[in-house]
Formats: sequence, C-alpha cells, structure tokens
Amino acid sequence: MKRIHLVDDCINYVQSLLYPPTCLLCGAPGADGLDLCPGCLRSLPWNTACCVRCAAPLPAAGLCGQCLKRPPSFDAALTPLLYRPPLDWLLQGYKFNRRLPPGRVLAELLRRHLLRHVDTLPDLILPVPLHPARLRERGYNQALELARPLARALDIPLAAGLARRIRATATQSLLPAEERRRNVRGAFELAGPLRARHVAIVDDVIATGSTVGELARLLRRAGAERVEVWAVARAGRS
Ligand SMILES: [Zn+2]
Ligand SMILES: [Zn+2]
Repeated sequence: MKRIHLVDDCINYVQSLLYPPTCLLCGAPGADGLDLCPGCLRSLPWNTACCVRCAAPLPAAGLCGQCLKRPPSFDAALTPLLYRPPLDWLLQGYKFNRRLPPGRVLAELLRRHLLRHVDTLPDLILPVPLHPARLRERGYNQALELARPLARALDIPLAAGLARRIRATATQSLLPAEERRRNVRGAFELAGPLRARHVAIVDDVIATGSTVGELARLLRRAGAERVEVWAVARAGRS
C-alpha cells in the first residue's frame, strides 16, 4: 500500500510540473491550486439549493417530493455541482486521459465541499463499481478515479473491490422512478463482510439516485448504520 502511495506521489509531482494549474475552461492561470480561474470557478453550475436528502435541485433547500413519499436508503447525498455544461465536458475529460487535470480539479472541488458540509467522516469509502463488461469497454472506473484521491486526502480506507456489479443494467435516466428501482434491484453484491458502520459511496454523477440507493440498501443489510453518497454532480429530475 505504502509503495503504491509513493508511486502515486511521484506521478502527482510529475503531473504538477507538466500541468501547472491552468483553467480548463478558458486557459487562464488557475487560482488557489485549482485548474480553474476564479471567474470560471464562480460561474460553474453550483448545486446551491437542493434536497437535503438526495441533493436533487430545488427552488429552496428542503425535502423533495420523492424523498417525502419514499426516502432513499442513504441518509444524505452531497454533490457540489449540477450536471449541466461544462460539467458534462469536464467529466468526459476522463475518457481521453484519466490522468489529465479534469479528474484532479473535480476530486478537489468535491473534497472542499465535503469539508464544509460533513461533520463526521465515514469509516470507509466505497466507489460505485462498474460491471466488468463496462469496465473492459471503458478501461477505468470514473467513480474509483475520484474515490482514490479523496480517500488519500481524507485518510479514510478505500474499499475498491468490496462491492461488485453482478448485473449490467439498462440506462436509468430513461425509465420512470418505480422502474428505475426495479431495474437496479440485485445489481450489486458484496465480496466480503462490511467492517464499517459509516460508509460513503462515491460516484461521478448521480443521475436519479436509484443506483446509489440500491448500493446503500445492500450496505444497510450488511450492517451499515449511516450511508452517505458523495458525487461531483447531480442531474435534475426530468
Ligand atoms: Zn477560466
Ligand atoms: Zn430528495
């Protein structure tokens, strides 16, 4: 483990030399160690007013209708941004080269948001697993790429292989709420015992909340007492 950290640190150092903080959106010098300039940082689509439970955008902070009717299996979702331009583009940046800056700035924005909004840090960080077929197709798991630097920065163990996706699922966003829940039922399994009471599930984008909800349900059955969901961006409900 230590050796992997050393290699990572070297990669980070070389990266900082190769890519000094530069605004990914306009090319101006980055500020405050971020790959964004102050103007572009301010103009990002911040998820300011949202559901306190599932982080869906709302006109004012509170509980959304869906959480009132049927609360999700997780206790809270934390997402600093909305899934709107330029977030789609920044998250796509992974597809070209996962070591390039979009991952660096997105993980850092999420970390800063968490430090402001989380009182008690979890015992374990669990990235949403990809189905092996999707992983082969893509070559990497975005959720894991975000979870890794977060776990290191917050000094929390990362459970990279604990959850497995055993069923590939249809595209969630196209289905109505009830079908989305059914669509992901039994999509995950745990590869071993859960040795944590407070777990944070990490994903890149929360589309509808049903995928992370299903993973949270599994963690609860395995003994988790508190489950949070941390993601960079939240999509609105269609
Ligand atoms: Zn800029
Ligand atoms: Zn909600």
